[in-house]
Amino acid sequence: MRIILFDIDGTLINSDGAGRRSIARAFNDCYGLESDLCDIEFHGRADNGILRDVFEKKLGKSPSENEIQRILDALVRHLPEELQRSENYRLLDGVAEILEELSHRNDVILGLETGNTEPAAELKLSHGGIWRYFRCGGYGSDSDIRSEIVRHGIRKARNLLEPGQSVKAVWVVGDTPADIEAAKSVGVHVLATATGMHSLDILCSCGPDVALPDLSNVPQVLSILLSDS
Ligand SMILES: [Mg+2]
Repeated sequence: MRIILFDIDGTLINSDGAGRRSIARAFNDCYGLESDLCDIEFHGRADNGILRDVFEKKLGKSPSENEIQRILDALVRHLPEELQRSENYRLLDGVAEILEELSHRNDVILGLETGNTEPAAELKLSHGGIWRYFRCGGYGSDSDIRSEIVRHGIRKARNLLEPGQSVKAVWVVGDTPADIEAAKSVGVHVLATATGMHSLDILCSCGPDVALPDLSNVPQVLSILLSDS
């Protein structure tokens, strides 16, 4: 079996800022914070880590677990409306075809490795009609640390193996240096796509197995993910 774990933001979809706006509204609801959070780094990070950053930089405090959970709950309440407002929400090129193709193979387990919590991931991907393809995932609700998120995704995928099945290869597909570093530290393959905020040069400098400008060449992407290496 092959385990293939996709990052979400900048890899599968561009949500046109829906996540950032939902977090900003959550902080406004809970703390009256007036900020668009444009000075907070979001890319390649787990939601919990982003929220801790906002607490520290904007509210000058370290949050309790309850405070983090309250913001995460508010975020998920606002996300459907913010996704609706995202006129430029889109599946990135090649994604629909790649997922459709891989989902028909009985030697592939499709999963996620994302800094989003599971409820936020479900909302973001359901909006584009692709949540149904994923059988498991490592989420921002599992850990703040990207490599741990990848490990959780792999562990959950392994739990889906039937007796006698073994794992031939694990691939991570992501758009940030964080995805590449996490995959390498866990010892699995990584395909980097320059469809997020990072250039192909920057991604290449992190040493992925493969880096592509985007995922639009579907036969090429499939041959990489299904290769015997
Ligand atoms: Mg990403």
